[in-house]
Amino acid sequence: MIGKNVRARFAPSPTGALHIGGAHTALFNWLWARHNGGRFILRIEDTDRERSTPEYERTILDGLKWLGLDWDEGPDIGGGRGPYRQSERLHSYMERAEELLDRGLAYKDGDAVIFKVPSGEEMVLHDLIYGDINIQSGRVSTNQDGSVKDIVMIKSDGMPTYNYAVVIDDHDMNITYVIRGEDHISNTPKQMLLYRAFGWELPEFAHLPMILGADKKKLSKRHGATSVFEYSDMGYLPDSLFNFLALLGWTAGNDTEIFDRALATELFDLANVTKKPAVFDMDKLNFVNQEHLKRLDPASRREAVEPFWQLLDLPLERFGKKYLEDALSLMGGRGRTTRELAEFSDYFLDFEPVKLRYDASDIPEERRLVLREFFGELLNLPIWGAQEMEEFARRWCERNETPLKDVAMPLRWVLTGRKVSPGVFEVTALLGRDECRARLTRYGLAG
Ligand code: GLU
Repeated sequence: MIGKNVRARFAPSPTGALHIGGAHTALFNWLWARHNGGRFILRIEDTDRERSTPEYERTILDGLKWLGLDWDEGPDIGGGRGPYRQSERLHSYMERAEELLDRGLAYKDGDAVIFKVPSGEEMVLHDLIYGDINIQSGRVSTNQDGSVKDIVMIKSDGMPTYNYAVVIDDHDMNITYVIRGEDHISNTPKQMLLYRAFGWELPEFAHLPMILGADKKKLSKRHGATSVFEYSDMGYLPDSLFNFLALLGWTAGNDTEIFDRALATELFDLANVTKKPAVFDMDKLNFVNQEHLKRLDPASRREAVEPFWQLLDLPLERFGKKYLEDALSLMGGRGRTTRELAEFSDYFLDFEPVKLRYDASDIPEERRLVLREFFGELLNLPIWGAQEMEEFARRWCERNETPLKDVAMPLRWVLTGRKVSPGVFEVTALLGRDECRARLTRYGLAG
């Protein structure tokens, strides 16, 4: 725990869905606030009136909720230092601008208000992740020819600029930690000049490492899915994306790679965040997701897979929860996503996809006769259990001098339409005698 009372914020512009970079920034702020028993604040930076929409604001809020990030103050719930939308704070920006105008630190250009950048002042940005960065005020904002360029605070349409509004808000909302993407490092000196002009104490700054795609270029739409909901549609669990995003630029130490929110909150420390760019590695995300899928309790796993079975048009409603949960347990960790898991287990819910995949044309006529004998006896076993079936199959194969796989493989194909599946007698046991009989009969191997 650190001494300072932690108030961290996520300040998205509602000009698009919650994308990976935004989710990453939100997550690190949330972790830092929660780790320190502080507050996590959501502020909507909607001063770009043309591109901001209430729908985007809603999808961002929904995306955060989906990831399991809750906030203590925000546009939807209010809080002691609202309002939490910049468009509702315009009077404070004006008021503070007047203050700098009165003190001769800013001037008007038509309806715009401009901050006069001082030259010759030395500052140091103590970034918690990037370290100390020396700044000369005269070089903070420059024209093409290198001359000092003053900073627009309020545009002629009355809207504040990002660099100005962010300072007023972070101060008025008593933000103590500004944690955001490294692309804002270059903005920070401008903001520091404004803090200085107002005579306000600086918050702590922590800039998070850049996120790269597999080709080591800055992550962008070219790399595929960008919004968190696309990951949901692809079959990634919110817990997995949370876990995976936390690992972009941070390590829990002691080799812990798979964790839940509580453990991440306990272990998180800004001191362990690196400035080294982090690579968004799909293989790693798949690994993390598969591990979380394995760890889910049967009911939660079923609930996560159900929408994907539905998408495959499988007759979910015909089955009880227990059956579906047992089917997924049998899958024993197969499937990197809930989407894959749903696909891989389709034969438990329906015979149709099996028929599409398998036509039994690989079984020669003489084999068919032998198999019919075997399956005939199998279907009449007094006890319908995996172990009983396996023991029977071993004895039968021994007697008939047949390798076990010569009966197990056709059975697997007929029941699942796949070359790989969980233990075939377990599948047989779960599907039930009648269903197995029907499938074998359809392929002319019983009945
Ligand atoms: N609205 C800014 C953005 O989305 C916020 C940057 C900041 O955290 O200061 O990039």
